[in-house]
Amino acid sequence: MLSAANYQALDKRPDFVNLSPQPIIQNHLRQANLGQDAALVSANYINFDLNALNIVKGNKGRFHNIKNTEMSGQEISLRLPNVEKPVLLYVDNVQNLVKGVVTYTGYRIGQVNDFFILSIADEGVMAKINYGKYIYIIKPIKSKSVKHTIAQLDKTLIIKDIRDDVAKAVNQKKLSAVTEKSNNGSGHVKVLFYFENGVWNQSLYVSLIVSEMNAALSRSGVPTSNTISSAGIKLLGASFTGLCKDGILGLMDARQGAFANIDQDLNAYGADIAVTLIKTYTGQICDPFSGPVGRVGGVAYPYNPGSPFAVFADAYALGDLTALHELGHVFGGSHAIMQPYIIRNRYAKGFTMNNSITPSDSWQTIMGSYGYSNCNFSGVYSTCERLDYFSNPNKVISYEGNNITLGDTYSKMYLWLDIGMPVVSNYKGLPIPPPPAPNPISATNESCFGLNSVTWTAQSGATEYKLYKSTSSNFTSPVMLYNGTNTTTAVNVNSGLWYLRAQACNASGCSVYSNQVTAYRISNCL
Ligand SMILES: [Zn+2]
Repeated sequence: MLSAANYQALDKRPDFVNLSPQPIIQNHLRQANLGQDAALVSANYINFDLNALNIVKGNKGRFHNIKNTEMSGQEISLRLPNVEKPVLLYVDNVQNLVKGVVTYTGYRIGQVNDFFILSIADEGVMAKINYGKYIYIIKPIKSKSVKHTIAQLDKTLIIKDIRDDVAKAVNQKKLSAVTEKSNNGSGHVKVLFYFENGVWNQSLYVSLIVSEMNAALSRSGVPTSNTISSAGIKLLGASFTGLCKDGILGLMDARQGAFANIDQDLNAYGADIAVTLIKTYTGQICDPFSGPVGRVGGVAYPYNPGSPFAVFADAYALGDLTALHELGHVFGGSHAIMQPYIIRNRYAKGFTMNNSITPSDSWQTIMGSYGYSNCNFSGVYSTCERLDYFSNPNKVISYEGNNITLGDTYSKMYLWLDIGMPVVSNYKGLPIPPPPAPNPISATNESCFGLNSVTWTAQSGATEYKLYKSTSSNFTSPVMLYNGTNTTTAVNVNSGLWYLRAQACNASGCSVYSNQVTAYRISNCL
């Protein structure tokens, strides 16, 4: 147990990110491959203070520096360009999704729909922070670079591809009995990530995409057994110069070129589906009929066990929720307007809200599209931003001061995902059963404010563990605090009493919950 002597008291909370006054070199902007010139509002170099990730808030306005970088419930302060005061982020959960990478997710304090994801590894820091109509992207300039940039992007000015992003595979295979969930897998979909040569910081990208997808599934009301994980990362060593995203997806389907061994790879990695991250290139003409939209956005084959593949342009994978949108197609989702691919489940759709009086208040859920929706759309730019939710008419959120409902009778993508993801998770079968629950679990208060140590029991056959909290003793509305290979973590109880349960997981899914323990906050350092 720690004592007050272990804590270094500070009068001021340190900022994790500080802006460097040095003007950014154009070449570094290009190397960071932000690729969204029209949307770029500002770009700065930044410095980090890792101490900001180890802070517990004490009494009398003081802060305490503790030694633990994997702590849910803490707050992170950082400086953003064109924002006067330091911004405070609340950490909902901490995950180790890829070896050596710690990923924090949560929201901006005061704006619960401004989500953030932040991954830290030896190779650098990568993050995406929503701030109203802007997003901030933090990236190393290139592989293993100590120099990092923060780019401020205007979401409404991100270049959109209005062509259909749903392709028809030659390798079409029909699924039978798609509604019979009991015949299918666990809902835990394993994804193999391919990278085009020149897309750097692969494990950071994978951590961000996996955590952003799982957070969106959870906040959209999709049952918690439906998640994705990384089955592996494979660098292709090939560049697809001159090819557009459709052509690259076509190579995956045809099992040609860099993808000649894609079926062997799926087997070797135990992956259900595969995706390829390619370099964004806005200047390339991809379709002479719809204009020079370039190699932007993504493309996918919908709900097809013969070719369960998608392609994302790197800057879009984070910038415009494109990775989540294309994964939604692979899982059987459709756009808001176009016909659903699975006719008997017409609600597997996105949702759009078109405000013709104030177009800037138009929005769509993750499965909304830019070419086939009734979102206000004119030319290359769209005011109709994607919100980080799958459609669900039971979800009401506050958006720009209004309470909005995220779906209707025909737009219940959250329900479809609970049918489609178990089917997709069975594309490669169930090699082993999920492990038993990690009983017993215990929580020890560290005698200093909200800091608690939580420990659970290792289980053979488990590859990772998940720790959840609820503020109710019935464990309603559980929120994940930790996901990774450790059997212990620290949590910071910011107020009230937290009820905690853990799960043990492997490629087939997760165990039932462990026993329940409580964690609490004390008002002082004992
Ligand atoms: Zn689409």
